[in-house]
Amino acid sequence: MKTVFEKSNGVSGVSLTDEEIDLGFMNGAELRKEQIGLPQMSELEVLRHYKELSDKNFCIEKGFYPLGSCTMKYNPKVNELLANLDGFSNLHPLAADEDCQGALELMYKLQEKLKKVTGMDAVTLQPAAGAHGEMTGMMIIKKYFEHIGETRTKVIIPDSAHGTNPASAFMCGFEIVSVKSNDKGQVDVEALKEILTPDVAAIMMTNPNTLGIFEENVLEISELMHKNGSLLYYDGANFNAIMGHSNPALMGFDVVHLNLHKTFATPHGGGGPGAGPVCVVEKLKDFLPVPVIGFDGEKYFRNYNFPHTIGQVKAFYGNFGVLVRAYAYILMMGENLKKASENAVLNANYIKEKLKGEYKLPYDVPCMHEFVLSGDKQKEENGVSTLNIAKRIMENNIHPPTIYFPLIVHEAIMIEPTETESKERLDELINVMLKIAQEAKTNPERVLSAPLTTPVTKIDETLAARKPDLKYKLES
Ligand SMILES: *Cc1c(COP(=O)(O)O)cnc(C)c1O
Repeated sequence: MKTVFEKSNGVSGVSLTDEEIDLGFMNGAELRKEQIGLPQMSELEVLRHYKELSDKNFCIEKGFYPLGSCTMKYNPKVNELLANLDGFSNLHPLAADEDCQGALELMYKLQEKLKKVTGMDAVTLQPAAGAHGEMTGMMIIKKYFEHIGETRTKVIIPDSAHGTNPASAFMCGFEIVSVKSNDKGQVDVEALKEILTPDVAAIMMTNPNTLGIFEENVLEISELMHKNGSLLYYDGANFNAIMGHSNPALMGFDVVHLNLHKTFATPHGGGGPGAGPVCVVEKLKDFLPVPVIGFDGEKYFRNYNFPHTIGQVKAFYGNFGVLVRAYAYILMMGENLKKASENAVLNANYIKEKLKGEYKLPYDVPCMHEFVLSGDKQKEENGVSTLNIAKRIMENNIHPPTIYFPLIVHEAIMIEPTETESKERLDELINVMLKIAQEAKTNPERVLSAPLTTPVTKIDETLAARKPDLKYKLES
């Protein structure tokens, strides 16, 4: 496909003549003497150009997007409509409290909703994403221990954790101690006991974890941690599995982040924007970033009165547009949030049961909203790797699952269908993956050569990573 510069054919998008443009107010010296080389095309050709570009992109509106750990559910379009209301989208972040009561009310009420779903006591809406929430949470934990005069330098993280967990804790100056998973894919409690020393500040857990398995011993773990004077951090990226059925407070957690862009239906992928609110128990409330949105019974206001605040982690109040979308989604769903989680779990189990005959299922237990297969069998028997399988899936108008994560599963294929897909779509993925498993046996070369039909075909992964060539060369 050519760029607009190459397609430029001198057709002007406007038809004003020099006489029609009154330049009398400028003197000649200020006028440009030469063309500046902007592309010139008719309006229709411009539209065709950008439509063709967008058609090359894959999105949820184009097909199934079962990308594990990312919760690529459908984001209702009414959310966009609401976020684009003039009073929200054109509001200045420095407007005085009395001039933006509506926006403050929305943020306050969203805080209240998030307190309810997590069971926590206070919330900041500032962090821009999950990882940013993790960092905020770790800063709060660090400041809390400084405040009570305890030196705690370590954070325990399961070996199944998302990479952002150790990265966030490390950025806040903690030493990372890994705890291994047992043969049920859950935190090994005995191994945890061995590393639980008085200098441990916290454990960071995801529940259900990244294998899509519920940590059955979470209550025992929270008791152990609290007895040790340590805190528990809940990575809420997998919240879509438990909405309305359980919450991190019931499990004994002290700090929680939610990924609004995952669970609460705001568009994501391609780098954002997102929102990663952090919710805490009462004793950590004073450490939250400021401002927190308050309500005095009459007026909503930005509350800066948090004596031990860690400061501000983002300009103004976070990604407000994402907050509007998430609030709209929560109001619209109401009690049905519970049903959404039920269907997310049901859909994942359905696909898992249909695929486990042909693909290795390392942890063969009922899963929550996602599950992890291994491509080991195809690799050993047919020389076809998980990467090859993922590329072959792409040729079927389905976004490939997450691959090679979590790290504790060889050749991992992580599938998260979400609740917004029909049985027909689930069957589509099942049939494609069963077909590829057959093809791996009968015609492995075809799988190895994939993708052949996508805008970008098979690339040399090593060369692309080591020597990326990002320059576009004009065909001329
Ligand atoms: C997505 C995810 C994160 C990071 O969240 P971002 O919003 O992408 O920064 C952390 N942990 C888990 C388990 C995740 O799936």
